[in-house]
Amino acid sequence: MNYPIDKIRGDFPILSRSVNGRPLVYFDNGATTHTPEPVVRAMDEVYADYNSNIHRGVHTLSNICTEAFEAAREKVRAFINAGSLHEVIFTRGTTESINLVANAFGEAFIQEGDEVVVSGLEHHSNIVPWQLLQSRKGIVLKVIPVMDDGTLNMDAFYGLLSEKTRLVAVAHISNVLGTINPIQEIIKASHERDIPVLIDGAQAIQHTPVDVQALDCDFYAFSGHKLYGPTGIGVLYGKEKWLSAMPPWQGGGEMIQNVSFEKTTFNELPYKFEAGTPDFVGAIGLGAAIDYVSDIGLKHIANYEQELFNYAFSRLSDLGKITFYGTAPQRTSLISFLLDGIHPFDAGTLLDKMGIAVRTGHHCAQPLMKRFGIPGTIRASFGMYNTTHEVDALVAGLVKVRQLFG
Ligand code: PLP
Repeated sequence: MNYPIDKIRGDFPILSRSVNGRPLVYFDNGATTHTPEPVVRAMDEVYADYNSNIHRGVHTLSNICTEAFEAAREKVRAFINAGSLHEVIFTRGTTESINLVANAFGEAFIQEGDEVVVSGLEHHSNIVPWQLLQSRKGIVLKVIPVMDDGTLNMDAFYGLLSEKTRLVAVAHISNVLGTINPIQEIIKASHERDIPVLIDGAQAIQHTPVDVQALDCDFYAFSGHKLYGPTGIGVLYGKEKWLSAMPPWQGGGEMIQNVSFEKTTFNELPYKFEAGTPDFVGAIGLGAAIDYVSDIGLKHIANYEQELFNYAFSRLSDLGKITFYGTAPQRTSLISFLLDGIHPFDAGTLLDKMGIAVRTGHHCAQPLMKRFGIPGTIRASFGMYNTTHEVDALVAGLVKVRQLFG
C-alpha cells in the first residue's frame, strides 16, 4: 500500500496555512504534533452533544460521556497492549506520569540511601522529579553516561546497578539525539536484579509500535499532544502489582471509595490515581488520535518517517560544515545539528522568517548540552505528514542562513 501522504496532509488544516508569507514547513513535532480534523471533531462533539461530568451521574449525558471516556481508556490499553484497564491511568502528560511514579512509587518503595538510575540524555522531566525525591528522602541519583555518538554507555550501566537500586528510569527515544535506547536490554538486566524500570515514551509512542507486555516494562509514560492528540492529557501505564501497592499521590473526588473524618478508603485502580474531574474531553480526543494513527498503521508511519529521516540526514550532510549531535546506528525521527560558526538561535529565527519551524536551544536537556559542551542545537523533528519537499525547503533555508551570515 502506498503511503497516503496527500490524504493525511489534507486532514491537518494547519499545514496549509502560511507563516511570514511563506507556506508553513513544520519540523517541530518533537515538541508537539498537530491535530487532525477527526480528533478535533471528536472533541467538538463532546461539547456539542454530550458534555457532562463523568462517573457520578445517573443521567443520560453523564452516562454517554462516561462510556466515551472509558472507551478511550480501552483504546489506549489496546494501543500499548496493556494487560488490563486497571493499568492505564490518565494524567496530564509524560511529566505528570513520571511525577506520579516519583511520588507514589517513591513513597512506598524508595528510602533514604536507595538509588535511582537515569541516563545522561534524559529530558528534564525524567530528572527533576527524582531530584525532588532526592531532597525529600535523601535518595541517590546515578547517571548512565552518554557516548560521543549519543548511545548509552551500557558497560557503565551494568556497573551502576547495585543491591540499592530501586528503579531504572530511561527514555525510549532521546528527544535531542533521536537515539533509540536498548530498553529491552535495560529492562531484562534490571529485572534479573529485581529492579523495576520506567520508560519515558514521550518521543517513541508516535514513531514506533509499543507493546508494554512484550517489553515487560513496569511503567511507561507518554503525552497525547505528541501523538496527534490534544494537550493536557497523557498516560501512565503501570503494572498492577506496583500500582496496587502504591499509595495515592493526590487526594480528592474520584479517587475515594468512602470518606469520613475518621477513615477514608480509596477507589480501585485506575481511579485511585485520577483525583478530581479528569480531562475527559482530552481523553476522548486521545482515543480519536489513536484511532487515526491506527487506521494508517503505526508500522506504516514508522517506515515512511524512517525514509524521510534518511533523506533528510543525507541532504543535510551534503551541506558540509555541519555538526550532527546523535549519530547512533539506531536512531529515528529527529536530527539535531549546528552549522559551523552560526548560533542556533540566529539560524532558527531566520528559518522562521522563511516559514520553517524548527526548535533551537537546549530542548529541556541541559545536562546533555553540558555533556557535548554546547549551548543548544537546531532540531528538525519529523511527523507523519512531513515530506521530502519540506526537507528540501529546510536545506534551501539553511543555505540562505549561511549566505546571510557570510
Ligand atoms: N520526555 C521527553 C523525552 C520529551 O521529549 C518530553 C517533551 O518534549 C517530555 C518528557 C515531557 O513531555 P510533556 O511536556 O508532554 O509532559
